[in-house]
Amino acid sequence: MAGVTRAAMLGPDSGGGRMKQVLTICCMCEKVRDKGKAEWVEGVWQDFTVYMAAYSLRPADVRFAHTYCPTCLTLYRELLASAEAHPQQETE
Ligand SMILES: [Zn+2]
Repeated sequence: MAGVTRAAMLGPDSGGGRMKQVLTICCMCEKVRDKGKAEWVEGVWQDFTVYMAAYSLRPADVRFAHTYCPTCLTLYRELLASAEAHPQQETE
């Protein structure tokens, strides 16, 4: 035996080595965008813990791509707009 090949060591069928799923997560409210589940509307934003439970995922199974969900994006824009409308209010 010349030795174990690199491919054998890194093979996809090594058992338990699942591909990590990339979750799009809102960095403000920490909801994740669902890619679609039978009883859910596609593109719906779910609470992180609800999502993980629904798909039987553990934190070790996923990676995160941070973004803003539509709700927080709207809030953020409103904050920006009001900040521009009332700049530098130091005291009430
Ligand atoms: Zn959000």
